[in-house]
Amino acid sequence: MTNLLILISAILGLAVGSFMNVVIYRTPNGLSVVRPASSCPKCSARIRWYDNVPLLSWMLLRGRCRNCCVAISIVYPTVELATGLLFALTTAFSIGYWNSDTAILMLSGLVAYLALLWLVATGVGLAVIDFKSRLLPRALIYPLYAVGISALCLSSFLSMDFMAIFRAGAGGLGLGTFYSLVFVLVPGGLGWGDVTLAGILAFYLAWIGWGALILGALLAFAFGAGFGLLLMVIGKAKGGHKIAFGPWMLLGALFGGIWGNSAWGSYLEYLSRFIS
Ligand SMILES: [Zn+2]
Repeated sequence: MTNLLILISAILGLAVGSFMNVVIYRTPNGLSVVRPASSCPKCSARIRWYDNVPLLSWMLLRGRCRNCCVAISIVYPTVELATGLLFALTTAFSIGYWNSDTAILMLSGLVAYLALLWLVATGVGLAVIDFKSRLLPRALIYPLYAVGISALCLSSFLSMDFMAIFRAGAGGLGLGTFYSLVFVLVPGGLGWGDVTLAGILAFYLAWIGWGALILGALLAFAFGAGFGLLLMVIGKAKGGHKIAFGPWMLLGALFGGIWGNSAWGSYLEYLSRFIS
């Protein structure tokens, strides 16, 4: 049963990833994600439904448009695959919470699970857009605030876990304030998009637990700094060159969300050996 649910979520993830490709392509240009139907950017031929099956179509067409044979970027199937894998991962790690015996706890877990899937899909979109154009569009971040805060609060009300709401609020405000200060005090360091993304990621992570928030926040800086140094070493960037920070915040949040709580638990246990 568990494996079947993971498989179904992976397939759902592929389809959502396919939609995120449309979002990634259109949102930074302020275009509608609903209309018109997808077309080839070179010859404008409408993409038929059977050429729009995630992963499969790209492989069958060997990465080319059926009409004009222009190469279709590998980013498209990569986004689909990444979303599919992350949906499967989210399901595998959160299935224990919504596979509960009482209906109300099951509903609570399910609501939180949907909030996590929304974060995953939005996160994939934001990471790619930020990498491509160093933008974190409000059109993606504001709905993430609305869905994330309302769904996670509802989930905690259902399970009567009011501590989680407190953690999420305190964590979101805390890290959001820290990023705001960096934004003000270090001109040109971060964009306002980074600040707003940090706030909602911290809300999610602290909702999961303090360990998740701490590991996620620290890894974001570690990954970002590591990537910046790497670029300098291979000579692609000079000092002061701006890099997109959003993808590293999101990657840090992924690790923090999955392993932060257990890592924090082990760390506390390690410390307690010196105290007792
Ligand atoms: Zn074409």
